[in-house]
Amino acid sequence: MATRLLLTFAICRLIVTVGLTLYPTELPRSILADGHVSVDPSDVASASIDFGRMQSSEPLAVLYPGSADDVARLVRSAYESPRGFAVSARGHGHSINGQAMASNGIVIQMSGGSVHDHEATTKVWEKLMYVDVWGGELWVDVLRSTLRHGLAPKSWTDYLYLSVGGTLSNAGISGQAFNHGPQISNVYELDVVTGKGELLTCSKDENSELYYAVLGGLGQFGIITRARIALEKAPTRVRWIRVLYSNFTAFTEDQEYLISLHGQSEMFDYVEGFVIVDEGLINNWRSSFFSPRNPVKVSSLKSDDEGGVLYCLEVTKNYHESNADFIDQEVDALLKKLNFIPSSVFTTDLPYVDFLDRVHKAELKLRAKNLWDVPHPWLNLFVPKSRIHDFDKGVFKGILGNNKTSGPILIYPMNKNKWDEKTSVVTPNEDVFYLVALLRSALDNGDDEMQTLDYLSNQNRRILGFCQDQGIGCKQYLPHYTTQQEWKLHFGDDKWKQFNKRKTEFDPRHILATGQRIFTPLI
Ligand code: FAD
Repeated sequence: MATRLLLTFAICRLIVTVGLTLYPTELPRSILADGHVSVDPSDVASASIDFGRMQSSEPLAVLYPGSADDVARLVRSAYESPRGFAVSARGHGHSINGQAMASNGIVIQMSGGSVHDHEATTKVWEKLMYVDVWGGELWVDVLRSTLRHGLAPKSWTDYLYLSVGGTLSNAGISGQAFNHGPQISNVYELDVVTGKGELLTCSKDENSELYYAVLGGLGQFGIITRARIALEKAPTRVRWIRVLYSNFTAFTEDQEYLISLHGQSEMFDYVEGFVIVDEGLINNWRSSFFSPRNPVKVSSLKSDDEGGVLYCLEVTKNYHESNADFIDQEVDALLKKLNFIPSSVFTTDLPYVDFLDRVHKAELKLRAKNLWDVPHPWLNLFVPKSRIHDFDKGVFKGILGNNKTSGPILIYPMNKNKWDEKTSVVTPNEDVFYLVALLRSALDNGDDEMQTLDYLSNQNRRILGFCQDQGIGCKQYLPHYTTQQEWKLHFGDDKWKQFNKRKTEFDPRHILATGQRIFTPLI
C-alpha cells in the first residue's frame, strides 16, 4: 500500500512537473507500475549525459521500469496522450552523440534499474543453446549467466559494459563478426514495445517486419525488453597474438585472407587490427599487452615508404584446456601463411573471460587517472574493401599524418554475407568492408592543442569530407547526423523508403529515441 502511495505521488509529481496531459482514466494504469518514476535531479542529470560527453539534454523524468509492462504502459501513455511526449530507452548510456537522450521527454533507464534480478529475467536454455535476457542487461552479465552452463554468446563487442538493447539497436561488432556476423545476426527472438505501446514478440517467422526493423534500428521502432541470443559451447582459454606490418597491402591481404576462412575449423576465432600512427599509441588503453617480454623497438620497424605508419594484426584462437597440446601447432600453421614482420610476434595466453573483458581492465586504469570521463569525439566508419587503400593514403598517412592520435584506431574487415539485408543497419555495397574506428579522447588541459575537442572534431569533419569528395562510399557505424537530408543520404533511397515506412507503422507519432534526430516528433 505504501509503495502504491509513493508511486501515485511520483507519477502525480511527474504529471505536474512535466505538464503531461494524462486523463484521469490513464492514471490507474500508471499506478499499477512495478517500477518507479523519478524527477530527482541526480537521476535526471545522469540521464542527461552519455559516454561522448559532448552533448547534454535533460529529460523531464526518468522511468526505472520493473517489467516490460511498465515500459509498455509508459509508451502507451505517450502515444495516446493528446499532447504526446518523447520516450527514449537508455541502456548504459555509452552513446557518443546524445542518441539515448530525450529532451523534454521521459528516459526509460533499462540497465541497472529496478529490473536487476538477473536470475528472474535471464533463462538459459542449455539444450536449445540460447538465452533469454532483459533488454537492459549488460553483456558482461549475460556472459556470467551463460558461463554457469558452460555456454557463451557467439558474437561480441570489444567492451562488455554495454546493454543488449543498445548494441542490438546498432549491430554489435567485434573480431568474431567475420565468422558469426554481428550480434544482430545472432538473435532468434525479441519482445518489443512499439511506439504505440504494444508489447509484441517478434522473430523471422512472427511479426518479422518488426523484428528486422528493430535490429540495427537505432531505437526508432520499439524498445527491446527481451532478446533470445544464440549460444555456443564456451572455450576456456584464448591464445592472443599480435603481429606488425609496415606495408598496408600485406596487412590487408592477410586480414582478408583470414576472414575468407570463415566457417572452417582451421581459422582464427577473432580477427581485428589497428593502426599505429605514433609510438604513444602502443601504450594506450586498447593495446596494453605489448609486454616487456617482447621488447621490440617499434620505431625500428617503421618504413619511411609507408609514411611512418605501422599496422597491427590482432588474432585469437580459442581452445579448451583438454586441447592445449595442439594449440601451438594450430596457431603456427595459420601464422605461417601470413606476411608480417618476422620479429614482431607478440603472444599471450589467458582465460576466455579475461580476453572478452579486456577493455574493462583498461577502463579501470583510465578511470584511476581521470581519463575515462572525458569527451570522446569517436568516429566509426564502414569502408568498402575496394577503397581501403585510398582511405589509408588519404586518412592514416594523410590527414592523421604523424600527429598524436589520442586514442586507438581500429581497422578490420568483415564479410557482408554475415549481415542480413532485411535489418535496418546500413553497410557498404561490397562483399567485404572494413570497420575503421577512430576512438579518440579529447583532453582540453592546455598541454597540446592537437588533443583538444575542437581539433579532433575538426579532423573528423576533414575525414568525412575527404570520403565524400573522393566518393569512397563509407557508411557511418553508430551514425550521427543532424538533418533528415543527411539521414536520407546515409540510408540511400531504397533503405530510407523502408525505414520511413517502418517508422510510420511502428512509431507513427515519432516519439521513440528522438535523440537520434532522424524524425521530428509529431507531438
Ligand atoms: P545507449 O547509449 O544507452 O543507447 C543507444 C541507442 O539505443 C539509443 O538510441 C537508445 O535509445 C537505444 N536503446 C537503448 N536500449 C534500447 C532498448 N532496450 N531497445 C531499443 N532501443 C534501445 N560497439 C560495437 O559494435 N562494438 C564495440 O566493440 C564497441 N565498443 C565500445 C566500447 C566503448 C568503451 C563504448 C563507449 C562503446 C562501444 N561500442 C561498441 C558502441 C556501443 O555498442 C553503442 O554505443 C551502444 O549503443 C551502447 O550501448 P548502450 O547500452 O550504452 O546504449
